[in-house]
Amino acid sequence: MFDFDGTITERGSYSPPQEMVDVLVKLAEKMPIAFCTGRQLESFEDHGLNVLIQEIPKGKRESFLENLYLFAENGAIGYGFNTDIDEFEELYRVKWPSKFISRIKLMEEMNKRVKKYGSVYRKKHRIVVVIRTKLHYAAEKVDLIYELSDKIYKICVEFLTEIDPDFEKYLHVGNSGIGVVICPANGDKDYAIKRFAEILKQKRGVKTGKNLREILVVGDQPQEGGNDHYFLNGENGTPFSVGVNVQNKPFPMPVTDNNGKRIFNAKGTIHLLKSLIL
Ligand SMILES: [Mg+2]
Repeated sequence: MFDFDGTITERGSYSPPQEMVDVLVKLAEKMPIAFCTGRQLESFEDHGLNVLIQEIPKGKRESFLENLYLFAENGAIGYGFNTDIDEFEELYRVKWPSKFISRIKLMEEMNKRVKKYGSVYRKKHRIVVVIRTKLHYAAEKVDLIYELSDKIYKICVEFLTEIDPDFEKYLHVGNSGIGVVICPANGDKDYAIKRFAEILKQKRGVKTGKNLREILVVGDQPQEGGNDHYFLNGENGTPFSVGVNVQNKPFPMPVTDNNGKRIFNAKGTIHLLKSLIL
């Protein structure tokens, strides 16, 4: 299972490099793969799926798609690919916790509060609320984008704390570095790992043990407040970080080369897959 931005892509790039595409195609010949991203279905299709599909030899396309799963909107909606209709098919979706705050009210309030740094991205998300920085289309300013994203994250947490200091019972806020995702607490990326294990069991008879360690999980924002925090905390799956390093905890494990030097983002993920599996 892979986070997308900063894990499959390089930092500040919105699509995967060629070598990553090749590696993923090879991997999906061997086993089911899943992406778990703050992006919504359409954005994943535009920046992930279409780039991948172009590279797959015709005869291998169907078997690749049969092994492909998408956990979009930070895990709040799961999809499998249905090769009969050539489209992703929804497998589950969690509900927004309206009794805490309505989704529309949250979007209106956040738009007012983050105005200096960004705005709510209103287009296609079905469940989560996504706030992007005002520099979203200026990928060359990647450090500034990460700074703005940090500011937006703090404003979100401040607002939710005003409503209820225990807001994390209802909503999680995750900073991806290029924006902030607010998702239902019971539909974060850790939930996606559990659902993936269930799907693998139902559809393919794959057995998993305690903590689902058989599932390799890779992301780049595992720190407190990062949008991979729940994905990579080690409660489920075997997690690796190709981004922020978490000190003094067994998980996530850092990805390193043979000399123990850390390797980041897409390069790290490629190295990990080549040394463990391919
Ligand atoms: Mg990421």
